[in-house]
Amino acid sequence: MSIALNIINIAGREAQEHGAAEIRSINIEIGALAGVEISALEFCYRVARKGTAADRAELVIDEIQALGFCRHCEKEFPIDFFVSICPDCGEAVNEIRKGRELRVRSIQIV
Ligand SMILES: [Zn+2]
Repeated sequence: MSIALNIINIAGREAQEHGAAEIRSINIEIGALAGVEISALEFCYRVARKGTAADRAELVIDEIQALGFCRHCEKEFPIDFFVSICPDCGEAVNEIRKGRELRVRSIQIV
C-alpha cells in the first residue's frame, strides 16, 4: 500500500506544481527485481487513488528487464534472479545493472 501511496503523492505534487486539478494517467517503471508484485500494486493503487487528484488516473506500468553484468567477460545480459550465471563463461554474476528501479516516469495532467 505504501508504494501506491508514494506514487500518488509524487504525481499529486507534480500536478500541483503545474497547477493541474486532475491527473489523467501516471506512467511508472518497475524493474523485474524491484520486489513489487504488479497485481497487488494495481489493486492498492485503485484503493489509494480515491478522493485524490489521481481519482480517475490510469496507472501505466512499464516493466524493466533486469540486467546482470559479468566482470569476467565485461558483458551485460538479461537476468531473472539476483543470483545468475553468465551465459558465456558460467561464472556467478553478482553485479546487477538494471532491474531494481521503481519510479514515476511521467504523468499526464488535465
Ligand atoms: Zn562471463
